[in-house]
Amino acid sequence: DMRRRWLFADQLGPHFLDEPGQSVLLIESKAVFRRRAFHRQKAHLILSALRHRAEDDNVRLIRADTYAEAVTDEVTVCHPTSRAARDLVKRMKNVEMLPPRGFVTDPQDFVAWARGRDHLRLEDFYRYARRHHDVLMDGDEPTGNRWNFDADNREPPPQSLDIPTPPAIVEDDIDEQVRVDLDRWEREDGITFVGNDGPRLFPATRKEALARLRHFLTHRLPTFGPYEDAMLAGDPLMAHSMLSPAINLGLLDPVEVIERAERAYRENKAPLASVEGFVRQILGWRDFVWHLYWYFEPDYRAANELTARHELPKWFTSLDADAVEARCLSDVLAGVRDRGWVHHIPRLMVLGNYAMQRGWRPGAVADWFHRSFVDGYEWVMTANVIGMSQFADGGRMSSKPYASGGAYINRMSDYCGGCRYDPKVRVGDHACPYTAGYWSFLARNESRLEGNHRMRQPLQGLHRLSDLDALLDQEKSRGSHAP
Ligand code: FAD
Ligand code: SF4
Repeated sequence: DMRRRWLFADQLGPHFLDEPGQSVLLIESKAVFRRRAFHRQKAHLILSALRHRAEDDNVRLIRADTYAEAVTDEVTVCHPTSRAARDLVKRMKNVEMLPPRGFVTDPQDFVAWARGRDHLRLEDFYRYARRHHDVLMDGDEPTGNRWNFDADNREPPPQSLDIPTPPAIVEDDIDEQVRVDLDRWEREDGITFVGNDGPRLFPATRKEALARLRHFLTHRLPTFGPYEDAMLAGDPLMAHSMLSPAINLGLLDPVEVIERAERAYRENKAPLASVEGFVRQILGWRDFVWHLYWYFEPDYRAANELTARHELPKWFTSLDADAVEARCLSDVLAGVRDRGWVHHIPRLMVLGNYAMQRGWRPGAVADWFHRSFVDGYEWVMTANVIGMSQFADGGRMSSKPYASGGAYINRMSDYCGGCRYDPKVRVGDHACPYTAGYWSFLARNESRLEGNHRMRQPLQGLHRLSDLDALLDQEKSRGSHAP
């Protein structure tokens, strides 16, 4: 087959080709950045990755406003990662679409697994995928005779974690040109970005991505498990891999990432609980949310079972961390502003939790995550934001809302000590916005949640509160102001 392979900007690695050296078409479209205000560092990363890839042999890069005008020859393309791009590809007569790559499990296997289940749960899918792909298995049994090491993981944070920082990215002429172009687009084309610019922090080439992967496997994987749910104010990375941008750009194949993590365990270089926890994120969560994007109907992303209707306030969308006194939220928002990346728990328990407590519109929250994170893509949003973080689907993929008060953040971080609020206080000048927000969320949604047996205890707690009226008045007058 002599046809070129058209690669979208999130299909850059060798596993999107049939053989090394196959001729490639890349398209750089400015129009993408006109449609949404992305994080400046995300725009930089994507353009840098595309342009670095264009330096390889046998690659043609075309700059065009529309994909259709750039694809003039007969080409093949792997199934794109958004519905809009897939529909576009389907309409193009000269393009043959191949099955998706860049994930571990196949769509038809997922559909066969999901058919007939009314609740789709990660744990079930993950066990299926472990068996089907023979990952961390000893014969028919899970390695170590357990599927799940959560009981060993999820520790509160230590004082500090002394892990070497990942190898720094060294910017080159391509990055310099990207920065010049983005400055010009802002000046001359009216294109806007969110967040601060800064030195590129994430891999744009396969070589940089492999260096980060190697470093992670040696230095972070051994402690990944125990502290995966913890937060430290002075350490945004902790033992996380920071590999999501590289995997989502297609620079790393999730299959190779999992295989190398399993090998680290087999060679006694990392404990099973950590390796299992990490494999669960990629083979489990990443593939699970990818399939759910296609499996759920297109209007899933407009789901709003808790009828949350408030738009996002300006201080939040503009990442104005300095306007926020709540220490946890201010620090996490500053992380988004300065890096376009924070790890999973700040996304879920600080940002998403706050949005759900205040009744912000789930579609707007998803759009915000998509634009503001370096690893944000549409396919990641539906399940992670609409389903898991905002519970807007009424529980099709998780059994209860991830709502929690300051006590959780206090247990899992070192934020509360230095905060002007007190996680134990519900009402008054020191009332923690998470604690107060948690109770007002329950009060507002009581009738929708009372059928959920996992919510029975929290709702009983709600009825025992003697100061609920004062709390609700306080939350009403706080409104959409920065906490
Ligand atoms: P690690 O903790 O080192 O995990 C390893 C890898 O597992 C990640 O690199 C990622 O590829 C994968 N992974 C783990 N959890 C998930 C998940 N829930 N969904 C998909 N992949 C997962 N992930 C994105 O890639 N892009 C997003 O835009 C994104 N938005 C999110 C929004 C919300 C509200 C929530 C709750 C989660 C979101 N996630 C997203 C999932 C997860 O938070 C990030 O993948 C992770 O924090 C990236 O950091 P890391 O590479 O250090 O991850
Ligand atoms: Fe966050 Fe509340 Fe703790 Fe302050 S007291 S850091 S607002 S959880």
